[in-house]
Amino acid sequence: MTVRTRIAPSPTGDPHVGTAYVALFNMAFARSQGGEFLLRIEDTDQARSTPESEKAILDALHWLGLEWDEGPDNGGPKGPYRQSERSEIYLKHADQLLESGHAFRCFCTSERLDELRATQMENKQQLGYDGHCMHIDQAEAASRAAQGESHVVRMRVPREGQCTFNDMLRGEISIDWTQIDLQILLKADGMPTYHLANVVDDHLMEISHVIRGEEWINSAPKHILLYQYFGWDTPVFCHLPLLRNVDKSKLSKRKNPTSILYYQRMGYLPEALLNYLGRMGWSMPDEREKFNLQEMLAEFDIQRVSLGGPVFDVEKLSWLNGLWIREELTDEQLADRLHDWALNRDVLMAFLPFAKQRMETLSDIAPLGSYLVSGMLPITAEQLKSAGIDEEPLMEVLQYSLWRLESVQNWQRDTIFEALKYVADAMGIKLKPFLAPLFIAIAGSSASISVMDSMNLLGADMSRARLRYAIELLGGIGKKKLKKMEKAYQQLS
Ligand code: GLU
Repeated sequence: MTVRTRIAPSPTGDPHVGTAYVALFNMAFARSQGGEFLLRIEDTDQARSTPESEKAILDALHWLGLEWDEGPDNGGPKGPYRQSERSEIYLKHADQLLESGHAFRCFCTSERLDELRATQMENKQQLGYDGHCMHIDQAEAASRAAQGESHVVRMRVPREGQCTFNDMLRGEISIDWTQIDLQILLKADGMPTYHLANVVDDHLMEISHVIRGEEWINSAPKHILLYQYFGWDTPVFCHLPLLRNVDKSKLSKRKNPTSILYYQRMGYLPEALLNYLGRMGWSMPDEREKFNLQEMLAEFDIQRVSLGGPVFDVEKLSWLNGLWIREELTDEQLADRLHDWALNRDVLMAFLPFAKQRMETLSDIAPLGSYLVSGMLPITAEQLKSAGIDEEPLMEVLQYSLWRLESVQNWQRDTIFEALKYVADAMGIKLKPFLAPLFIAIAGSSASISVMDSMNLLGADMSRARLRYAIELLGGIGKKKLKKMEKAYQQLS
């Protein structure tokens, strides 16, 4: 049997370090077994998937030095590798399950499901579909569907006993079937859910080992059942430990930047970031901290992955990155890296139209533009507070702006402006004073070019990271307070 592994990202946001981590381990395992590694785009969530996100994910993984043998960009014999191009395949397989009686059509309206949920919550019952449509006669259901009645397709799941399966790292895992929902496989619009598409594709793409994050353990029973319903061999499952913040909570962007684009912008070397991801739950036989991809691939043994939650600590990463800069790059190579990173004509050309208006001598460019090639700025809480907004609304200005900016899809001057104007209007603050603290947070000074232009030049990740940093400088926001603010934010209009 040829070992085949895959990474299956959903293109619904920034390229996440967790995706790169799982990709690295999939690739390392495949290479260590003389096998193949492929990349599949899981874009069945049409409302949230974007081509921009897909491109950013592929670019970021390539930037890190990860390579797949088959994928949407390089093709392969089992394509297409984008789920949105495979709808027919899923429809056919859903039909097969309907015919064999392993799935059923469910006509329940969203009102009924909402009511059901509310009742279950009230009675402190386990939430989930109650099987209302499960007993409708197959022929009757088919004719209602043929007449155009809106419905989804759900899978049948045993209502007693346990699903027991083997995980490569964790050994035997048992989950009660009653914990498993009568999962929707096909949505009312005919699109598959993750579960159906994932299983069908893993089978058709001949994936031998499903190596993914531990958040998917609870989905494994559904998947195993689907393999059985189709009469297919089940792949080997391996659930990797989740990356964690320094305080051991699940890695989250509130505490740690999670986007690879941030680390790129910040000036981490791809080799160092990949090296650091290779240290997440895994170590070289001689425990050395610095190693390159080839060295890791040569020594890789998946059984040495330890399950204690690996901590993604930016300080540790910075230390390792420093080692890479000092020990692995000649001055010439470092100069090339700096050039490729940001000290180049493209970056200058984007800034000059703004800078020119304020320049008297060429040397003015350094103080004017240094914030564009910096990480976090040497600003103080006092500076933020003295920008003209009282302390209480100041936190709100920063946090609400951050939330609003996190939902901006197409990062451009205009969309940034709209987002900020929205928050300013909703808070009843005039735009000029509203933007003043943002100037400090983003550019370090209120004398800079328009803050929208600055954010556009800096990119979404660095802009958001600086807002988060400003909030931290002001003392941060506790959990309770954050909840309250979230509520208030949702009520803004
Ligand atoms: N599309 C899923 C994700 O975004 C893939 C999970 C899996 O590997 O099965 O993580």
